[in-house]
Amino acid sequence: MAKILLVEDDNGIQKMLSIALDAVGYELVKANSIKSGLIALSQNPISLVLLDLGLPDGDGKQFIKEAKMFSDVPIIVISARDIETEKIEALELGADDYLTKPFSIGELIARIKALSRRVKEKDESQESEIIIGKLIINLINKTVSVDSKPIKLTKKEFELLSLFVKNQGKILTHTFILENIWGCGYGKETHYLRVFMAQLRKKIEENPSVPQYIVTESGMGYRCQISMT
Ligand code: CA
Repeated sequence: MAKILLVEDDNGIQKMLSIALDAVGYELVKANSIKSGLIALSQNPISLVLLDLGLPDGDGKQFIKEAKMFSDVPIIVISARDIETEKIEALELGADDYLTKPFSIGELIARIKALSRRVKEKDESQESEIIIGKLIINLINKTVSVDSKPIKLTKKEFELLSLFVKNQGKILTHTFILENIWGCGYGKETHYLRVFMAQLRKKIEENPSVPQYIVTESGMGYRCQISMT
């Protein structure tokens, strides 16, 4: 049974998640502070962390910072804080996803499954071909096709698309994308990204104004959808 660590001081949420996750085959390990959370993470084979930000011994972002020093466990932040800068900060510290309270259990479980799958796929293979619906990306040959028709991408567009598909399901912040594709000094050049995203979507999306493959996470960045194969 895969173990999920919940770092949360609200008893009601602990109880609710314990029941809901048990029903879909996860065992919940509970911690109600940053300190006890870090201890639990170091002592158990944890496959994913659900993290509240308002904790009795500090800000949950501190947990992310410290956890990332010794573990690459995926982290989903669950918080009532619906402030863009908070979300971006958590993502940039290394959180993989962010759900604002109140959230539906169904949504949470979908995010958990998506992340677990991404981590598993990353572990299992140096996959050369990634298929998302009608979109096929070959990372070795650097070819892309949609609905079996080859698509011509520029070098930068291909790098951008590769970054997304290698991080399926995860929210990538503007800064993360810019620094990965354009380099360190470009973290604030969000207009570059907008231009490139528009070009990329025109080439790969059936309807670029209603994208299916790479969706906008308002104010934060973008997310590549998980393939449903
Ligand atoms: Ca709390």
